Amino acid sequence: MGRFISKRFDCLKEYVPGEQPQDRKYIKLNTNESPFPPSPYALRLARQAAGNLQLYSDPDCSLLTKTAADYYGVSDASVIFGNGSDELLDFAFAAFCDKDTPALFADITYGFYPVFAAKNGVPLEEIPLKEDLTVDLGDYKGKKGTVFIANPNAPTAIALPASEIEKLVAEDPGRLVVVDEAYVDFGGESVLPLIKKYDNLLVIQTFSKSRSLAGGRLGMGFACSDIINDLRKIKYSFNPYNVNAMTAAAGVGALLDVEYFRTNTEAIKKTRAWTVEAMGDIGFTCTDSKANFIFARHRKIPGSEIYLKLKERGILVRYFDKERLKPYVRITVGSVEEMRKLVGNLKEIVEEGS
Ligand code: PMP
Repeated sequence: MGRFISKRFDCLKEYVPGEQPQDRKYIKLNTNESPFPPSPYALRLARQAAGNLQLYSDPDCSLLTKTAADYYGVSDASVIFGNGSDELLDFAFAAFCDKDTPALFADITYGFYPVFAAKNGVPLEEIPLKEDLTVDLGDYKGKKGTVFIANPNAPTAIALPASEIEKLVAEDPGRLVVVDEAYVDFGGESVLPLIKKYDNLLVIQTFSKSRSLAGGRLGMGFACSDIINDLRKIKYSFNPYNVNAMTAAAGVGALLDVEYFRTNTEAIKKTRAWTVEAMGDIGFTCTDSKANFIFARHRKIPGSEIYLKLKERGILVRYFDKERLKPYVRITVGSVEEMRKLVGNLKEIVEEGS
């Protein structure tokens, strides 16, 4: 810590992103990126936009907003974009939590939530998942605060039905529920249509996974116009140009190239099913994944060992050094060829171990 850092950040423990080692070429299955490149149409629009980079980007992302509003059947006033969904989540912690309104979220969920809470100086309460790693929304009943739910959850990959989330939203109109749907396009049920019915629901999605734009940094938020205006207030007090012109253009292309999106998400789901089955044959148990990653444990080998042995063999997966997660590894669903290599290596690791 340097001498000049504000006392506010004395104890801030920053988020640790998935490693990106440069020592050799790895099969990267540790950050839930897409194995597919961005849509060719998205790339064409981004290239066109690059020709006008002498100009600031449009702070309202007007074309992108209109495209997303049409695509999802909501009004333009119900949509906001951010520099990745992380930024919108950060804005939500800033805008909708304070000392009397703590952030409420699961004890096992996206690791950035506690960091957003700490950075924004808001209290938090972690609510334990059940023994089987599922969320019991009954545990949130009557609790005061702003609820953050990753659905499907990370790193468990398990999804809640939309009807259960709706019950939570409907139960207390005075409490905001934020649903982080980063992985919803791989088999989850979105609550996005419910923003027309409830004014205490904020849905956040990303272009990083199902739309292959992780490096472009683009996230979108959907809610009633009051909530969107509150988020805009934060955005305009921080960086009105948070979405760069090339990324905004790529976002339009990614949304309009429906065929490409469908083909890729279906391919991931098929590869996921194949991988889960193949891993089952060699002693792994996987949670019921509705995401583009698999959360798996082996009956004999701890997660840390699987992680290290795969890394030695040039395959990166994610391991979490947290008590209940120690048996597990989180593995991104990559291409068919990558998953074949993964399973081949896992087989050898299992055989070595027994
Ligand atoms: N939510 C969850 C649950 C995530 O796992 C991630 C990706 N790490 C994000 C949000 C953020 O994604 P991005 O900022 O790339 O949109």
